[in-house]
Amino acid sequence: MRRQNKIKAKYALLGDNLDIFQNIELELDSNNKIIEITELKQDLKENTILFPGFFNSHIHSADIGLRGVKANNLEELVGPNSIKSNYLQNLTKEQLMINIKKSYNEAKSNYIFGWLDFRESDGIDLHEYPYKNYYIPMCRPTKTTINQIPNFAHIGFRDVIVLEEEELIQVAKDGKMMNKNIQIHASEDYNLREKWINEYSESDIIWSIKNLNVDSIVHLTHADENDIMVMKKNKISAILCISSNIFTKVGIPPLKLIMDEGINIAIGTDNAMINELNLIQEMRLINRQINLPLKVLKMATINGAKVGKVNWGIKIGCSNFIKINFQNYNNKDIIYDYIINSEWYRRKNSIWQPRDYGMEI
Ligand SMILES: [Zn+2]
Repeated sequence: MRRQNKIKAKYALLGDNLDIFQNIELELDSNNKIIEITELKQDLKENTILFPGFFNSHIHSADIGLRGVKANNLEELVGPNSIKSNYLQNLTKEQLMINIKKSYNEAKSNYIFGWLDFRESDGIDLHEYPYKNYYIPMCRPTKTTINQIPNFAHIGFRDVIVLEEEELIQVAKDGKMMNKNIQIHASEDYNLREKWINEYSESDIIWSIKNLNVDSIVHLTHADENDIMVMKKNKISAILCISSNIFTKVGIPPLKLIMDEGINIAIGTDNAMINELNLIQEMRLINRQINLPLKVLKMATINGAKVGKVNWGIKIGCSNFIKINFQNYNNKDIIYDYIINSEWYRRKNSIWQPRDYGMEI
């Protein structure tokens, strides 16, 4: 492999723990993948930080064409016969591709180098999904389409009522046999949660863990202690979409409870129609509540990639990192807070990032 490039930085957040190292040099191959990480003996004069790019663990790229939409409640906005479902049903293939690309460009401009994209599709059209590698589509297959979805696509169920119970369980079972990553929206809507508890004597969260063998659960707005304990026991990741929850007025998930149990927490921006693909604003919202910048930065980077089951961070073999100027500061204790709360992302010409890894290469 041809050796091509070296990147140096005064500070680098290495590995899964984002530990701060000083005077780091990365050696990259011709695809900008890290092949060597060295701690230099000399003190670098530049004041810069290297850290992993962001991973958005839950988005819906296709509805960006409805950006700015207004609705009175969740039911009117999403779900069957909603503004969104009517829009998607009438979308041409060309317009769909334009929308996905528009979301991708917005994500990239906000340093999001990977995502899990809930496509409202039975999976067959995903053979034409324009991105690969770290931009992963998730679909809603039926028992007739599950065997026709592409290898790179995974499963994202709208909710526990997206299919009849028997078919839903069968599709999830088949998906697991095919080694698919399964995500679901659960306990976002209070009414559906209550209805489920009345009928099944357990929440949609616990039911989907037991019956669908899900890997991650989105929203958890109304989750209680019992739900979180079952998630912990089964090592299920939690995906928080705080801006979306505020917009749809469904409530805010029990963040402290989820954090105290040590569950893997990641962040999503949810529907592109209501929310910019911007994890910096999501991190700020969460950090305002808990004031733990390292934990919050991990949610938007390493933890998210863990949900997507992709290798991420400043490690051998990875390429999704960026280098920014640590402007006017020289205090390593504030690095995590600086990444979340300063305006570094506005100075685009002083940021280095790898070439486009979402495209098929
Ligand atoms: Zn969603």
